[in-house]
Amino acid sequence: FDLKNDDFTTLEELGAGNGGSVMKVLHNLTGTVMAKKIVLIDAKPAERKKLLRELQIMHDCDSPYIVSSYGAYLAEPNICICMEFMDKPSFDGIYKKIGAIDIRVVGKVAVAVLEGLRYLYDVHRIIHRDIKPSNILCNSQGDIKLCDFGVSGELVNSIANTFVGTSIYMSPERIQGATYSVKSDIWSLGITLIELSVGQFPFSDSFSDSDADSDLEDAASHAHRDSLHPPRAPAPKRDSLRVPTSPTTARRRRRSKGVSLHGGGATLSIIELMHQIVNEPAPRLPPGRFGAAPDAFVNGCLEKDPDTRRTPKELFDYEWIAESRQNGVDMRAWAATF
Ligand code: ADP
Ligand code: MG
Repeated sequence: FDLKNDDFTTLEELGAGNGGSVMKVLHNLTGTVMAKKIVLIDAKPAERKKLLRELQIMHDCDSPYIVSSYGAYLAEPNICICMEFMDKPSFDGIYKKIGAIDIRVVGKVAVAVLEGLRYLYDVHRIIHRDIKPSNILCNSQGDIKLCDFGVSGELVNSIANTFVGTSIYMSPERIQGATYSVKSDIWSLGITLIELSVGQFPFSDSFSDSDADSDLEDAASHAHRDSLHPPRAPAPKRDSLRVPTSPTTARRRRRSKGVSLHGGGATLSIIELMHQIVNEPAPRLPPGRFGAAPDAFVNGCLEKDPDTRRTPKELFDYEWIAESRQNGVDMRAWAATF
């Protein structure tokens, strides 16, 4: 069926990110509750049509590990993407609510993300490009599904917010301007798994509070600007960074123009963070806390050199994956606890 603005009743806002906002809506004609993502785009009419055609791929996705799509439509100057509504928070929301997530549940997340990536690649030849806790959703059935995959190169290029495409989950090679491969998603998965099991973004702790001189930072920003972005994307506009902040860190961030990372209150500029990702050893799970199997898996994801980093196919053979598939955790019961 055709989707259009008039046919929806807005129920509540589910969240907002770099690219736009997501609303819980009721589709009046069918009585279906959906999640509607509204993205402000900056594209010419001909490009918009192409964009919509490309979004059709999303509609064709049919996997238990991928949030399904009801379709997309233009509502100038926005594009609206109507998705399956997931009635539990995304994984960033979950750990911010309940704290560090049980490693066995994190194992289920690893399985779901690998399965989702395999489906997208094997069936549709798509690379996700934006693996992070807020793009891994959960419902009261205990299902874990991926959303917001880079279905359309066109879409990424026409989203009005210039910061889209740069993320704190970016792999070292991508920061350095290499072309995107599925292995970049694997890096982002490794960072995500540490964040969920420890309850904190892995780079936040290792940083001291930075009130770096902003002129210097601006210079650094210019110097690195090209390497921060895939070739066709526009330069980052740093005001548009949206990273969750507490009132204190938000104040600090305005002063230092740094990026405040979740929770810990440590503030660092995006340039400092990118520098760390490229130059420091890869993050690890805290030694001895979770056991050898998760450690080995995460280390396989977080090889800095993409040539030695494991592929999704290789990662399926890790002991932790087999273990997690049959670890007996009742995901539906778990999802009922928050
Ligand atoms: P980001 O992923 O960067 O946080 P988004 O605009 O993609 O920003 O999403 C904002 C929030 O909306 C997400 O954090 C998630 O909690 C929520 N959300 C997105 N898609 C859905 C969906 N299909 N069902 C329920 N909630 C969703
Ligand atoms: Mg998202």
